[in-house]
Amino acid sequence: MTALKHSNFCMGCWEQMHLPVPLRGVISAPFRAFGVRPSRMNPNTCTICELMFTKVMRARKITIDATIMFADLRGYTSLSQSLSPDAVSQLLDAFYDQCANAIWAHDGLLNKAIGDAVMAVFNFPLQRGDHVRNAVLAAREIQDGWRGRRDELAGTLGIAASELGIGIGIHTGELSFGEFGQSHRDLTAIGTVVNTASRAQSVAAADQILVTDAVHRRALADLADSQPKIYQLKGFDTPIELYAA
Ligand SMILES: [Zn+2]
Repeated sequence: MTALKHSNFCMGCWEQMHLPVPLRGVISAPFRAFGVRPSRMNPNTCTICELMFTKVMRARKITIDATIMFADLRGYTSLSQSLSPDAVSQLLDAFYDQCANAIWAHDGLLNKAIGDAVMAVFNFPLQRGDHVRNAVLAAREIQDGWRGRRDELAGTLGIAASELGIGIGIHTGELSFGEFGQSHRDLTAIGTVVNTASRAQSVAAADQILVTDAVHRRALADLADSQPKIYQLKGFDTPIELYAA
């Protein structure tokens, strides 16, 4: 398992405010005392960055151009019934770890990890002109890395490697990012872009990455050879074209 080396200073605070906020080592201690620590969603950013829109932009939510990626561990529900709790947590640890490293290596935010799925946001708080491409590259890194480690994992767990596939969906566009909910505040993205990425993920086969036309247009250099196929997504009136990445 390869652990990424994390930045010693917050990349988000430095890029957006030119403030060197230490995240690690002795000099980070006074910051930690004030609750400033590495973000669990991206360890190269900090807890101030997570709430950049409330602290700096003074809004509860903001509209941003961003890319959303959903990755889902196929077959998890049936596997979780046949495997021991220890084996299930080992499997999820490996999956989350694989996704997190690829997302963070491309400056994304691992916004949510729910059961057998993760949701990543690209372009917040680290703003990148090539966030669409970053999401595609992160998705490929997840698939490549997973193919490299699942044989060993399957051997350890006593199951077939073919049972351990990941399906990924990506969409990009304007969405609403911020804190939603009154009693339970949840920092996340909402909107059609999020729903479409989620649906694209749901029709992706194991080992497949499906992206929308918007992603295809904005990451053309990486997807030039890909031809669209028509999919009818649940909850959408008209069929849409998706490209394999
Ligand atoms: Zn920060």
